[in-house]
Order: sequence, then structure tokens, then C-alpha cells
Amino acid sequence: MGKIVIDNNRCKSCYICTMTCPKGLIKKSDKTNRLGDYMVEFDDKNSECIGCAMCAKRCPDMAIDVYR
Ligand code: SF4
Ligand code: SF4
Repeated sequence: MGKIVIDNNRCKSCYICTMTCPKGLIKKSDKTNRLGDYMVEFDDKNSECIGCAMCAKRCPDMAIDVYR
């Protein structure tokens, strides 16, 4: 089981992570950041994250930390 934390100050809303997570646990949020872009959020109500770190590896801004 894993967990991620997204740093919304680093995130530039490219949404690569939303397409990368094999479990579909990262979603576009309805909240916007200071630039007016929709942020992303980790939505893992059923504890499905496997800690694979694919999201963190693909993030071009190193905005995701993974905890296992
Ligand atoms: S660590 Fe893996 S399973 Fe967990 S959110 Fe990132 S891509 Fe998805
Ligand atoms: S891949 Fe990184 S920069 Fe792109 S939306 Fe996800 S957290 Fe933000």
C-alpha cells in the first residue's frame, strides 16, 4: 500500500500524472491554483495505491512524493 502527496506550488497542471497512474487515483480537481489552472488531487478512498511511483517519475516538475 502506498500514498502520495502532491505539491500544488510546483504542479503546473499538465495532467500527465492523471494519465499515468495505473489505478486511476489522480484526478483533475475542481479547485484552481493561483494561475487559474485546475489542480490535481489524489483520490484513494479504497486504499488502492500500490506505491509504484510511476506518477512521480513522469511528473516533469517533481511535484509528487511517494510514501510506501
Ligand atoms: S504511486 Fe502508483 S498507484 Fe500510487 S498514485 Fe502514483 S501511479 Fe498511482
Ligand atoms: S504530472 Fe506533475 S505537474 Fe503534471 S499535473 Fe501531475 S503533479 Fe502536476
